[in-house]
Amino acid sequence: MFRIGHGYDVHRFEKGRKLILCGEEIEHDEGLLGHSDADVAVHALMDAMLGAAALGDIGKHFPDTDDAYKGISSIELLKHVKGLLDGQGMTLSNADITVIAERPKLKAHIDAMRANLADALDVDVSFISVKATTEEGLGIAGKGIAAHAVVIIMHNS
Ligand code: MG
Repeated sequence: MFRIGHGYDVHRFEKGRKLILCGEEIEHDEGLLGHSDADVAVHALMDAMLGAAALGDIGKHFPDTDDAYKGISSIELLKHVKGLLDGQGMTLSNADITVIAERPKLKAHIDAMRANLADALDVDVSFISVKATTEEGLGIAGKGIAAHAVVIIMHNS
């Protein structure tokens, strides 16, 4: 049996922060603002996985009022979400993530981003897609970075 999930997230740029996308630190003159490391792509992916499992969202599991999650690597949170799905007898079949950023250019980082997610989820990298696009200067992406994620989850029973 299959389940589909979708996740969406946006974080605004902030000077003096590191830019982390799919667990990869990317050289840029500003990073994303957030309670955790603000890895917007991993946040969208986790919401897609939780959505497929009908287990709520990341705000429920990792509230930004909880100091335990302050500055935490979102890759660690992703491993926790994988564990929640494992506990329900669900495994990720594949994930397709679109990162929407006017800047910086992400092309050179895509393979490393895919590998980080595949490692955290213990799947072959061929099941993890990461794509990058802009909004042609027309949308919110110039002020920050947005991400969509779609996943298929297999239910083992
Ligand atoms: Mg977020």
